[in-house]
Amino acid sequence: MAYSFEQHKITGAIEADDEYWRGLEDGKFQLSRCSDCKTWTWPAHFRCGHCGCWEMEWVEMEPKGKIFTYTRSRYAFDRVLERKDDVPYVSVVAEIPEAGNIRVMGVLAGPEEGLAIGAPVRGRILPPSPKTKNYPSIVWELDL
Ligand SMILES: [Zn+2]
Repeated sequence: MAYSFEQHKITGAIEADDEYWRGLEDGKFQLSRCSDCKTWTWPAHFRCGHCGCWEMEWVEMEPKGKIFTYTRSRYAFDRVLERKDDVPYVSVVAEIPEAGNIRVMGVLAGPEEGLAIGAPVRGRILPPSPKTKNYPSIVWELDL
């Protein structure tokens, strides 16, 4: 059976970020901004925190950024036990210059040589899996 974002949606999600997940599902990296004042907003919201506009737009872009910060998990936390076989793993918060330096989190994939704050990264979209609670996901790879 084909994957369906709607079918696997987490109960209680606020839905403002649905387009992000739908985009990943289609292999697209897209982020939201206010359609009036163009302020980038992440996490996504229904309303612009800058000007109060209720219209948001989604802009597709290359998943390229630089590492704002990162951390290495050495423990299988209860809420992400699906990742217990990956421990230790690195989570990255990447700043996206094309989107006003808003920050998007993802797990680091590939070689770690050169891992540092400020290092350039490129995102790769992965299909839904039990490891990501059946959501599509983005992983960051160093792009040195
Ligand atoms: Zn605005």
